[in-house]
Amino acid sequence: MIELAEARRRLLAACPVLEPARLHVDDAAGCVLAADVTAATAVPPFDNSSVDGFAVRAADVRGATPDRPVELAVLGSVLAGSVADAPVTPGTTWKVMTGAPLPAGADAVVMVEDSSAEQGDPRSLPGDRVRLFAAPRPGTGVRLAGSDVTDGALVLAAGTVLRPAHLGVLASVGVRQVPVYPRPRVGVLVTGDELASAGQPLEPGQIYESNRAMLMALVRRVGCEPVDLGIARDDRVALRSRLAGAVAECDVVLTCGGVSMGDADPVKAVLADLGRLNWLQVAIRPAKPFAFGVLDGPTLLMGLPGNPVSSLVSFELLAAPALRHLAGQREPFARPIKAILDADLPPARDDGRTGYLRVMAEFGPDGRLHARPVDRQDSHQLSASAAANGLAEVPPGASPRSGEELPVLLLS
Ligand code: AMP
Ligand code: MG
Repeated sequence: MIELAEARRRLLAACPVLEPARLHVDDAAGCVLAADVTAATAVPPFDNSSVDGFAVRAADVRGATPDRPVELAVLGSVLAGSVADAPVTPGTTWKVMTGAPLPAGADAVVMVEDSSAEQGDPRSLPGDRVRLFAAPRPGTGVRLAGSDVTDGALVLAAGTVLRPAHLGVLASVGVRQVPVYPRPRVGVLVTGDELASAGQPLEPGQIYESNRAMLMALVRRVGCEPVDLGIARDDRVALRSRLAGAVAECDVVLTCGGVSMGDADPVKAVLADLGRLNWLQVAIRPAKPFAFGVLDGPTLLMGLPGNPVSSLVSFELLAAPALRHLAGQREPFARPIKAILDADLPPARDDGRTGYLRVMAEFGPDGRLHARPVDRQDSHQLSASAAANGLAEVPPGASPRSGEELPVLLLS
């Protein structure tokens, strides 16, 4: 057996590198930036009004109050997207809307709420006069050019995982295409002679196959594109030709089942035939067996165990970090969070394997994270594990008691 950390190290070291690609900003959510992005324009590109109001020379309205308003001649109204065609000169003002360029000569904006336009006549036409009740300092009501992003500044650094607001930032500096690591295309292939798809009648000895839908959704959750490769029978010749077809369209193939000690375990056998087998016995419970190898393409094959809960745990602990790594993420490992146990846990066997108990974790009234185990923990009992949102790490031989703290990995 090897420790999980060592298994992860070997797996990540084997991951082939995906070449960066240029994606439209609209399509880049969740991708990792492959290069720094600098601004080719300032944001905002010009000084503009942050309020609906009147652009003034601050000196003109010095001392203005509701009791002693200052009256100015209105030159006209500037909407966002248009430009004043004359400067503000002593005794004059432009009405400006939020986002309108600040007219030349103005250095402050009086909010419309502090004007007679608010109380009476909403029009502000050339020749109108407006009374202003407030005396802003220079700069008040004005958003300066470059106050968000200066021209030439580093906007986003390589390695940034693009969240929605990042896409907005890229768009704000006029970027249409971004260099990112492409989303890995991940084929999901489940194996087993006993597997039937939902919708088919169950023949004797068959079970409904549960892992394909779960793994495809998990693949999507970690930001990759799943490719449905269906069900393969426990036949190494058939499986080998299936895989040969898959490498053309997939960066990664995730198989499920067929990596244990069984007589018919075909994934292990095919990788061994190809001379590409790394077969690990990882010191974890569940999900001890894990196989991987790099097929021609190069395509990374990761072989997860078939028991549904083992598949889930194996995906979280091994496959998901590898996929994040392939997608360019620099921190592919989810970090455990300390949670307080709200129940005793069954004593863990002292056999060198760290337990990953499925728990429901949520914040309590004390503002701290609490966890309690789901009730059925066998690796075939997916229905109970489906309620879990975390894996509590239990050292071999430990008997964690209610009230103790344990590290919990939140599931993707
Ligand atoms: P294996 O890893 O192929 O030895 O399978 C271990 C156990 O998981 C067996 O009981 C299989 O029937 C079951 N199993 C394997 N693949 C699936 C699947 N896709 N859906 C549900 N159960 C599965
Ligand atoms: Mg099997």
